[in-house]
Amino acid sequence: MKIYINGNFFSEENANISVFDHGLLYGDGIFEGIRVYNKRVFKLVEHVERLYYSAKAIALTIPMSEKEMIEAVLETCRVNELSDGYIRLVVTRGVGTLGLGPDRCGTPQIIIIASNIQLYPEEFYTRGMKIITVPTTRNHHNAINPAIKSLNYLNNILAKIEANNAGVQEAIMLNSQGFVAECTGDNIFLVKKNQLITPPLSAGALYGITRGTVIDLAQEAGIETSEPNVTRYDVYNADECFLTGSAAELIPVIEVDGRQIGTGAPGPVFKKLLDSFHDLTKSSGTAIFV
Ligand code: PMP
Repeated sequence: MKIYINGNFFSEENANISVFDHGLLYGDGIFEGIRVYNKRVFKLVEHVERLYYSAKAIALTIPMSEKEMIEAVLETCRVNELSDGYIRLVVTRGVGTLGLGPDRCGTPQIIIIASNIQLYPEEFYTRGMKIITVPTTRNHHNAINPAIKSLNYLNNILAKIEANNAGVQEAIMLNSQGFVAECTGDNIFLVKKNQLITPPLSAGALYGITRGTVIDLAQEAGIETSEPNVTRYDVYNADECFLTGSAAELIPVIEVDGRQIGTGAPGPVFKKLLDSFHDLTKSSGTAIFV
């Protein structure tokens, strides 16, 4: 595997970043997780756009244009001959001192890893997964804004630990008002009486690229979609529940906090959206080879 760092490619062993990089010392940086299907990078433009939005929000100037970043991602796929996989794109604040000060950091470090990922076992996709609600609250907008895909994921990791301690792999995080925000690494959807529901971004959800894709697919299929505030009561009484994310794709949820969701099996709306999602991933994306 060849890893891109600031325009050069390194073997895994030689792909090194300074221990003084504030990405490591303080989680000061941002990232994206992007899928590659059939020699095309799925929603590449959208991911790069979100990366630059995250950068703006943390006052980090990425030392290349969005167009150059797109080309760097494609080049990393080419060098690694990746036709299906997962890309991790990371921008750190750069090498600084042991103080917090971002003003004393040098050039931001740009890292691109083209690899693979399998988040959940296959049976979760066919049978559905069980999740719980955890006590760790989703970041408040006045703290690290939840829309920022920052390198500081400790809040979500704490929630993930709580989920794992309870014997499940994903968890619903509520916001500070008690409304459902999303899961630790995925957005959440409900189906109620054939309508698709997902919490609004203002509830503390990440502006998920897969979330946006699913909303588009639902609209194309004539499925009514809304983004109201959602409570756990709404989740328990939904006909269907599923999660979305670039790594997880679409994954059905059949139990939340010990309550069976719907029939306890992946539902028809989920299956329909999954089919159209698979069709889309086969046929769209930025071609790696032109
Ligand atoms: N929420 C969180 C907290 C995430 O980290 C992610 C990405 N893993 C998502 C939602 C899903 O976003 P996307 O569809 O853009 O991958």
